Amino acid sequence: MPTQHLVVLGAGESGASAARLGQQRGYTVFVSDFGPGSDRYLAELQQAGIAYETGGHTLSRLLQAEVVVKSPGIPDTAPVIREIRAAGIPIISEIEFAFRYVDPRATIVGITGSNGKTTTTLLTHYLLQSAGEKAVAGGNLGDSFARLLIDHEPQDIYVLELSSFQLDGIVDFRPNIAAILNITPDHLDRYGYELDRYADSKLRIGKNQRAEDHLLVLLDEKTLAPALRRNPTRARITTIDPDRDIRGGAIHPGSRPFDLSGGRLTGRHNAMNALFAVHIARLLNVSDEEIQLALDNFQPAPHRMELIPTSDGRTWINDSKATNVDSTYFALEAMDGPTVWIAGGTDKGNDYDPLREVTDGKVHTLICLGLENEKLRAAFADLERVVECRSAAEAVRLANEYARPGDRILLSPACASFDLFKNYVDRGDQFRDCVKTIVA
Ligand code: ADP
Repeated sequence: MPTQHLVVLGAGESGASAARLGQQRGYTVFVSDFGPGSDRYLAELQQAGIAYETGGHTLSRLLQAEVVVKSPGIPDTAPVIREIRAAGIPIISEIEFAFRYVDPRATIVGITGSNGKTTTTLLTHYLLQSAGEKAVAGGNLGDSFARLLIDHEPQDIYVLELSSFQLDGIVDFRPNIAAILNITPDHLDRYGYELDRYADSKLRIGKNQRAEDHLLVLLDEKTLAPALRRNPTRARITTIDPDRDIRGGAIHPGSRPFDLSGGRLTGRHNAMNALFAVHIARLLNVSDEEIQLALDNFQPAPHRMELIPTSDGRTWINDSKATNVDSTYFALEAMDGPTVWIAGGTDKGNDYDPLREVTDGKVHTLICLGLENEKLRAAFADLERVVECRSAAEAVRLANEYARPGDRILLSPACASFDLFKNYVDRGDQFRDCVKTIVA
């Protein structure tokens, strides 16, 4: 058989690893990145002897491909995508490409949703690994799926965090167990500002599932239930109902209760994430005792309701990863007393009204950390105090001044970070560092 040509668009984590997987599987590979590319991944390609270009696309070379793998950051509307499509060349995501080469005996767990994907993926992996299962986590977090296949030994279970962009590019990808944690407005710019289209893209996770597979979904009559009707699956569906399944500091995933009070998973949103993870672990035969032990010992990832230890008698929390209104809603809901709230950044068309019910009577001071804060200011103008600043250090200094003994100080921006920071990690790191130097 003549060698097949694989073209990979985008030289990031998923692009570079898909290129290397393709090379291992005998393809002639060419990587093309419209931008400058990142040194780390270009070095990886170079070392592997994979041809690439940066700073633009040479269409004639791209059109030699039998298959194109597109990185999730490239929108369908990009001119190069239209050209490739017009030439009849299939375009898939790295998830789909990697799926073609994973051992068919391995179990695939796919986790998607608007919020909570990383926490649930890491927790699921932790529950499995603590019970001695040979499992690895990746996808939209850490190592891409393709990298899990080239840089790790074969695993029994792959726990994958999946974004809607990755699911857009699947054809045959079939998780044995899939979870849709929630669907709330996010990334709507890529879906014509239609929530239904964004929801349909998440529902693709179940499209190839079979009768022996499982799909876990949040009970949500408004968005998820109609989306499920539009996108039927053959999988067995389990509905997670937080009102029924979360009671008194414990979760009840249809079996004995599991206590969360001994661990670090705080807030109702984390109880929801834990419900999904425990359901998955039970489907994979982890014992109730092992699950409880792992829930007690699990350390959530940084920047998600991360407690910053100080000795000033107040509680400082870094929730920099809260880049949309829904995630901030849950963070504010978890505050159980007077709160100074630090929010703001790049507004993605936010409606702040739903936050009123969790700020009223609790938040006395709002510190706006952003270049443009008018909308936020206007939405919370009636709070005791609303102030503005443009750096993490200034935000911490103001919070230090206005927070009273026993208060909570919560960084949960509800906005993207790109106006003042490199990304949410940079924002959270700077915040933590400033708390440590200014307060602790
Ligand atoms: P994702 O990977 O989907 O972005 P993360 O686990 O990184 O999710 O959490 C992102 C943000 O959303 C954090 O601020 C976190 O506290 C909040 N969050 C986590 N789980 C949920 C949930 N189930 N519902 C709403 N917000 C959540």
